[in-house]
Amino acid sequence: MSRFFSEKYAFLEPYTPGEQPQDRRYIKLNTNESPFPLSSFAAKEAEEASGRMQLYPDPECGELVRTAAAVYGLNENEMLFTNGSDEALNFAFMAYCSDAKPAVFPNITYGFYPVFAEINSVPYVEIPLREDFTIRIEDYFRTGKTVFLANPNAPTGIALKRGEIEEILKQNRDSVIVIDEAYVDFGAESCIPLIHGYENLLVVQTFSKSRSMAGARLGFAAGNPSLIEDLRTIKYSTNPYNINRFTMAAGIGVLKDEEYTARNCAAIREIRSYTADELKKLGFIMTDSLSNFLFVRHPHISGEKLYLRLKEKGILIRHFSKEEIREYNRITIGRKEDMEILTKAIREILEENV
Ligand code: PMP
Repeated sequence: MSRFFSEKYAFLEPYTPGEQPQDRRYIKLNTNESPFPLSSFAAKEAEEASGRMQLYPDPECGELVRTAAAVYGLNENEMLFTNGSDEALNFAFMAYCSDAKPAVFPNITYGFYPVFAEINSVPYVEIPLREDFTIRIEDYFRTGKTVFLANPNAPTGIALKRGEIEEILKQNRDSVIVIDEAYVDFGAESCIPLIHGYENLLVVQTFSKSRSMAGARLGFAAGNPSLIEDLRTIKYSTNPYNINRFTMAAGIGVLKDEEYTARNCAAIREIRSYTADELKKLGFIMTDSLSNFLFVRHPHISGEKLYLRLKEKGILIRHFSKEEIREYNRITIGRKEDMEILTKAIREILEENV
């Protein structure tokens, strides 16, 4: 830290993203990226955008919003696009949290929430999950706080039903409920259909996972027009050109190729089920994940050892050092071939371990 760094940030512990090592080629099952490339139609649209790179992008993201609103069944003033969904989440912390309105989220969830709270100097409360890693919805009734829930949750993959989130919305009429649906396309119920009924609901989604655009950085917030207006105020006060031309063109392209996204999501669900069965045969214990990852532990090998041994074999999975989940690993669902290599490698590791 330099001696010039503001004291406001001196104690900030930044978020640690999953490893992106450049030293060798790994089978990457550690950051929940899609194993499938961007839709070729979308890639062509992005390439065409390169001819207009000398011009600033449209800060209103007009065509992107129009295309997306039609796909999601929303009005155009109910959506705001962001540089990855991380930006939408940060905007929500900026807009809806303060000393008078702390944030609340589970103790095991997306690790960026406490960092967003810290950088915005917002108090926050972390509510323990049940022992089986499920969320007790009653813990989020009448909180008087801004609620952040990843649904499905990360890294557990467990989802609440739409009806359960509706109950939380009803019990918090005077608080904003932010539902982070980064992984919703892999089998959970989206809350987007509730937007017209609840002015306190903000849904955040990403194009990083089901739409194969992690490298392009595109996400959005959807909600009542006055919530979107708040987020626009934040956007136009920080970075009006938050979506670059390549990303915007690719985003429009991928929304016009919904069949490709649907096919990829179906493939991930099928490979998830195959991988879960194979790992169960090897003795793994896991949560009931509706995401593009599995959250697993084995009674005979520590989470850290499995992670390290797989890394030596050229396979990256995600290990967390947090006490409650340190025996677990999160394994992204990749291509079937990759999952076959993974299960073979795990079998070898377990054999050498006994
Ligand atoms: N929410 C959750 C629960 C996530 O796991 C992630 C991905 N790390 C994000 C949001 C952010 O994704 P992105 O910024 O790539 O849209």
